Amino acid sequence: RAKASGRNTFALYQSEMQAVSDARLEMEKALHHAIEDKQFALYYQPQNDANGQVIGAEALIRWKEGDKGFISPAVFIPVAEEIGLIVEIGQWVLNEALSQVAIWLKEGKWHASWRMSINVSPIQFQQAGFLPMLKAQLEQHDVPAGCIDLEITENTLLNDLSSCLEKMHAIKALGVHLSIDDFGTGYSSLKYLKSLPIDRLKIDQSFVRDLLVDGSDEAIVRAIIAMSKALNISVLAEGVETAAQYHRLWEMQCFHYQGYYFGHPLPADKFVSTFVYDALN
Ligand code: C2E
Ligand code: MG
Ligand code: MG
Ligand code: MG
Repeated sequence: RAKASGRNTFALYQSEMQAVSDARLEMEKALHHAIEDKQFALYYQPQNDANGQVIGAEALIRWKEGDKGFISPAVFIPVAEEIGLIVEIGQWVLNEALSQVAIWLKEGKWHASWRMSINVSPIQFQQAGFLPMLKAQLEQHDVPAGCIDLEITENTLLNDLSSCLEKMHAIKALGVHLSIDDFGTGYSSLKYLKSLPIDRLKIDQSFVRDLLVDGSDEAIVRAIIAMSKALNISVLAEGVETAAQYHRLWEMQCFHYQGYYFGHPLPADKFVSTFVYDALN
């Protein structure tokens, strides 16, 4: 009996595994067509200061595949990374975000001091062609480098550090800003941080979520804020969902925020109608 049930369990397991890998293969195939079929879009989420004023936006990719609705980037970006498609997708994202900034600048809907934050995958950042591509796109769209902020993660720094540093310095030399995304979740050494040409740390939303109820999360947030102050790096809290979180962060002297409390990611036209006022320019 035990044997039979063991075999059944195995058969079930096997068919589940088959279903998982079929779904995965299907997603890989679909991803290959997503760019040319224009299935990607960028949404924009505001970043705000302590007065609630917009200081920039983060571009977040959305994938709408046929009638299946939206597939989360948390699901498909890792797949795109594994199959190498992230390079092409990342290039599409950069092009789309820069052309949007160029349009908004021309229309007076983007303040010159605002920054467009763009996520860069470690694999994309590692590419030899990344820097020339970035330069070419800035020129092509005629967007001031200072309007752009590239978000990299701590994982990016796990690759060859010296070539990574060199690239970061070259990016800074262009005038483009650099942030570390999801800070606190990865492998970060204080020694690294000191040597990095970084403008901003983004405190990961996992620490902000329970800030008011979990003493260790509060201690971590406090430490990140103190560290950024000591290193003269600015700091932004991600995933701010409530007024209480915002007020606590303000008391802790974190003055830049992103999260549903300030606004959800929206398509370009909705971003403008919701967050951009004609006080601009
Ligand atoms: P991320 O870069 O850390 O982006 C922040 C994520 O938190 C976004 O999820 C955003 O919608 C979500 N978020 C913002 N405010 C709140 C809040 O108050 N509460 C909660 N619970 N969530 C909030 P999204 O858009 O689903 O993106 C997930 C991740 O996918 C991103 O995390 C980023 O790692 C990746 N991603 C998104 N777009 C791109 C892209 O264009 N390129 C690359 N390489 N990765 C991207
Ligand atoms: Mg990000
Ligand atoms: Mg993040
Ligand atoms: Mg993330």
